[in-house]
Amino acid sequence: MDRRAIRIGGVVQGVGFRPFVHAVALRLGLGGFVRNQDGHVWIEVEGEPDTIDQFLAELSTRPPPLARVGEVQSVSVPLRGETQFQIEPSGRAGGAAAFVPADAATCPACVAELFDPANRRFRYPFLSCTNCGPRLTIAVDFPFDRERTTMAAFPLCPECQREYDDPADRRFHAQATACPACGPRLTALGPRGEHLEVADPLAHAVATLRAGRIVAVKGLGGYHLACDARNPTAVAELRRRKERDEKPFAVMAADLGAARDLADVSDEEADLLQSPRRPIVLLRRRPSSGLAEEVAPGSPLVGLMLPYTPPHHLLLHDLTGTALVMTSGNRSDEPIAYKDTEAIRRLTGIADFFLTHDRRIRVRCDDSVTRLAAKAELPVRRSRGHAPQPLRIPLPCRQPTLALGGQLKTVFAIGRGDQALLSHHVGDLEHYEAFRSYLEAIEHYECLFDFRPELLVHDLHPDYASTRYALERETAEPGLRRLTVQHHHAHLAACMAENGLTGDVIGVTFDGAGYGTDGTIWGGEFLVGGHASFRRAAHLRPIALPGGDQAVREPWRVGLAHLLDAGEGADLLAGQLPTSALRAAEGMICRRLNAPLTTSAGRLFDAVASLIGIRDRVSYEGQAAIELEWMASGVAPSGAYPFDLTDSEKQGAIVVDTRPLVLAVVREIQNGTDVRVIARRFHSSMAEIVVRVCCRLREQTGLDEVALSGGVFLNSLLLSESVERLEHEGFRVYRHRYVPPGDGGICLGQLVIAAAVSRCDNPPA
Ligand code: ZN
Ligand code: ZN
Ligand code: FE
Repeated sequence: MDRRAIRIGGVVQGVGFRPFVHAVALRLGLGGFVRNQDGHVWIEVEGEPDTIDQFLAELSTRPPPLARVGEVQSVSVPLRGETQFQIEPSGRAGGAAAFVPADAATCPACVAELFDPANRRFRYPFLSCTNCGPRLTIAVDFPFDRERTTMAAFPLCPECQREYDDPADRRFHAQATACPACGPRLTALGPRGEHLEVADPLAHAVATLRAGRIVAVKGLGGYHLACDARNPTAVAELRRRKERDEKPFAVMAADLGAARDLADVSDEEADLLQSPRRPIVLLRRRPSSGLAEEVAPGSPLVGLMLPYTPPHHLLLHDLTGTALVMTSGNRSDEPIAYKDTEAIRRLTGIADFFLTHDRRIRVRCDDSVTRLAAKAELPVRRSRGHAPQPLRIPLPCRQPTLALGGQLKTVFAIGRGDQALLSHHVGDLEHYEAFRSYLEAIEHYECLFDFRPELLVHDLHPDYASTRYALERETAEPGLRRLTVQHHHAHLAACMAENGLTGDVIGVTFDGAGYGTDGTIWGGEFLVGGHASFRRAAHLRPIALPGGDQAVREPWRVGLAHLLDAGEGADLLAGQLPTSALRAAEGMICRRLNAPLTTSAGRLFDAVASLIGIRDRVSYEGQAAIELEWMASGVAPSGAYPFDLTDSEKQGAIVVDTRPLVLAVVREIQNGTDVRVIARRFHSSMAEIVVRVCCRLREQTGLDEVALSGGVFLNSLLLSESVERLEHEGFRVYRHRYVPPGDGGICLGQLVIAAAVSRCDNPPA
């Protein structure tokens, strides 16, 4: 006989792992117990050593669908003569670490029940089980048990209670389980939010959508606005009412087959579409898709997702054959609406009908967005389905650490030991609504995870709302420490962290903007270093941004700056812009008035997009650069433009002189070269810059590992070409696969840097 204490890490809480352990122990006739503790599952089993080995093997090889078994540690402990196996309840007193799982899409077993006329949950829009359903979005307090979720308002009926209590049932301790007798119900509201007496709200929604109208649908993490994706009038009307001029809408298809009618879907992309996270996957649209052009104007891509809640399944099923635009329920840049009264107020005038229900959403959570690039997943937005699933970090936090993220696409992170819990996507903190939601979310996560930070990590930018938050909180809470992290260092560290790197590497961080240690705006950076420190080893040539932030919204301003810098006049832009505007901007550049310097790679993409006539103004961040990628995609590579590498006297850094590149682009335009070819060659030029600078830095430092990060590496053409060329040159290349390369990922880097810095006895600033 032997008794062993086993500690299992990974994603093992709230995913049906304890009942699974219970079932295996029961089958093998082992005694002992299982419980959640400190973010791990703790098991003690007693029995024959061979049987215990078999037990351990089964735990790792056939875990429940949402579980991911991480580290397993096992030690022998004294016998206790136990023959029964118990599931011990989790509770505050038991030292259970507060843990909330991520929301998961309706599982195949539940979908089967949903469409089975003989099942008691036939067409019931709120069925779920241990393997699926709402989690984070309904969590009110810790620990995660039904009475501390918004499902507490729905006491279980005897039948549901029996399932909930039965370790052999798929709904054992399924916190969100419900049935038509005891659970939430759909309700129907009219355009002004008035209650409608309709017998079947879902059928009413289907009829409204069929008639080409707009329906607000309450989902997991907020409201969506839905309309028939094949009806151009409906989609155009939604665009008009939402005041969203050009940003693409996501589309929900009934199933994988329907998705394949709309877009090209590889096997890897099918896996992403069908994963329990059910993200929006960016796919190449098929010419025969039948989707209205207004869904994603000008884009060769379409963001597709599959149904992930029972109402989605029912809607798409009953609509037979069409796909739905499913865009977040908000007006232009506001965060997604999720509280009923607020949503109804904000969506009045947009929706013709509300399909809502009486299960409260506690945490706002947008859809996640992802794509496949350079043979692996490249996350664009990591939110529903991911948050707050922990990521393991290579350096454990010495103290409870809160990493505050940046300003745009903000995500914050809680660091506890070797785990980083990344929040849902909060959005752009310059919008007051988003900032309010950021404050509220931090407070809620601290409650949910029973977490109190001792260290705050924030961006170096003095004007970021997250920076101001850190400063104010430091003042309000004596004893709280604070650490400032440079933006691109955080990007680099994030990429290193998810790849498990701890030594020094060459970091290529290309993005729109980040505050540099010299007070200028960086964004085309080659850093050499690791988590604890870095050196700015190379960067793009600084350019003046006439009008500051205005130049971000109006790429022609950056185009002009590059033209003047390269010694060209403003002639190339004269045809498309008023002379007075050009003169004014030229004045700013020449007198260096309201024209901050930047080395931004994102702005260089903008400049080229503007010069070749793609657009002079953008309606969302990164639009010009994204459209430049669209233009270049599908065009065969045909060489690159020249550039020079020079040494800056001041800092000993290599400067990438982009003037020859800009001049070459101008000549091509003047010669009438196809703009798609120019766009393609420009992408190759950027990849060439990456490779040539990395080769130089390898000669300098002997380092041959390269990490690619920053929002510009969302560009799949640039990413693929850079990875390919670098590997060809013998580099080991690391890129993002788990967190976005853009600012949604920097909180992870901030955490690891904090862990590394507090380790070197180098007191934080
Ligand atoms: Zn299920
Ligand atoms: Zn029930
Ligand atoms: Fe950034």
